[in-house]
Amino acid sequence: MKKVILGNTGYEVTEICFGCLPFGPLQKNLPVEEAAEVLSYGLDLGINFIDTAQMYKTYDHIKLALAKRKDKPIIATKSTAAAYEDMEIAIKEALEGMGVEHLDIFHLHSAKAGTDLFEVRKGALECLKDYKKKGVIKTIGVSTHNVKLVEACADNDDIDVVFPLINKAGRGIINGTIEEMKNAISKCEQKGKGIYLMKALGGGTLIDDYEESMSYARNLSDNYSIAIGMISKEEVLYNVKYFNGEHDLDGIIKIRNCKKVNVSQNVCTGCKTCVDKCHSGAISMGDDNKSFIDQSKCIQCGYCIAACPAFAIRMI
Ligand code: SF4
Ligand code: SF4
Repeated sequence: MKKVILGNTGYEVTEICFGCLPFGPLQKNLPVEEAAEVLSYGLDLGINFIDTAQMYKTYDHIKLALAKRKDKPIIATKSTAAAYEDMEIAIKEALEGMGVEHLDIFHLHSAKAGTDLFEVRKGALECLKDYKKKGVIKTIGVSTHNVKLVEACADNDDIDVVFPLINKAGRGIINGTIEEMKNAISKCEQKGKGIYLMKALGGGTLIDDYEESMSYARNLSDNYSIAIGMISKEEVLYNVKYFNGEHDLDGIIKIRNCKKVNVSQNVCTGCKTCVDKCHSGAISMGDDNKSFIDQSKCIQCGYCIAACPAFAIRMI
């Protein structure tokens, strides 16, 4: 599979980055052993880049997959921690959780955070910088859906890697247009930041436009990797073959899972927590004070699932 160099980090990673969110408890919730097998299969097929997060709760799955192999992929993780102490906890959790000696990329997990991120989460950034000096973290990144924050990352010398959201439909982009996001990412690339893209398939919602969506993401630059969340060997094989140039795969593709994020109306207490957590503006409250998800705006990120205190939201 084609490899790209992630900016000035020097990391040579595959064009596909294996996204771990969908197989974890926020989404498909595969058994740990099954998820580890799917991930390991992707690594067997040549993928050498993994993306996860403290919030995804997939460290056990990754640890199990890595335990069975000699090669070591590049792993990116992230945390929403704001304070120094909380980020320190997140770093230790990642090291122990995945059983690794260092962390290749550690992002400030910043979905819809604004350009004040570096001020608001100064403590967390200082912690990442300290651990980078110690060699525990190799590079620091920002994962974001926000065009203005991507622009700000271009001029921030502390940031080595940017993980921005972009797709051909603009689904999930905040604070700007698709074109503005494209330009902001390009600016980061010119400044030597490593780039890999998030939600090229709109979190699975653009699966019926697979070819067009992937072509759009792949044509943005020769230097970007693309994170793709995968939950089955079949899906992994389809994506790997596609990225290796075998585009005529209609006969084997069965990766249209038709999954959607759903609120159980009987369980919802009307607390509105999910409305604030959704960065895509997909959740509103109905007349009956129950939350409602507009599927045309949902990018299936799972953040509302994690936030709901009543466990009323599920990926089905
Ligand atoms: S967070 Fe859960 S309980 Fe609260 S409004 Fe949303 S779905 Fe309902
Ligand atoms: S409704 Fe939930 S899963 Fe969908 S975009 Fe909003 S937070 Fe993400």
